[in-house]
Amino acid sequence: MPSLSLVYYPHPVLRKRCRPIERFDASLAALAARMFDIMREERGIGLAAPQVGLSVQMFVCNATGEPEGDMICVNPVLLDPEGVAEGDEGCLSIPDVSVPMRRATRITLKAFDATGRSFQLTGEALLARVWQHEYDHLLGRLIVDSMNDAVRIENRRAIKQLEDDFAKQGKSSSVSGAHGRRG
Ligand code: ZN
Repeated sequence: MPSLSLVYYPHPVLRKRCRPIERFDASLAALAARMFDIMREERGIGLAAPQVGLSVQMFVCNATGEPEGDMICVNPVLLDPEGVAEGDEGCLSIPDVSVPMRRATRITLKAFDATGRSFQLTGEALLARVWQHEYDHLLGRLIVDSMNDAVRIENRRAIKQLEDDFAKQGKSSSVSGAHGRRG
């Protein structure tokens, strides 16, 4: 497995619609394991494949902090949203940015696990929010797309910093490692 690391806004891979995963093999399990490692290193509660540079429909998450809370979701769909609540969300790919997001408070997830077994679960509150955030990543949607003017102003400096860092990185072609910040 090539070494994977976190990709930061405004990297274009974060804007692509991800393609479905067709093969459930050892490399998929290894990818999931590596994504959990990165998620924990960064103290996140979810991480989508495009955030490590891979445009495939998969995310991992853990909304409880307990080992049993680990979920691998491949080719997910979300169904039957109910209720709506606003809550601040950050994103590991957009450090130091926080955006109030309106999300369904209860939603059903249908997906496959890393072995290709399908499952369906209904989640509420934080779990429902994480699923919706990660699912957005698979469509190329980011929290910065939902900023009103006031939120945009609050986050302006952090976003500008990320854009400058990305522009610099492109020029020097140095890849990862430069970022010490966490989201
Ligand atoms: Zn995110």
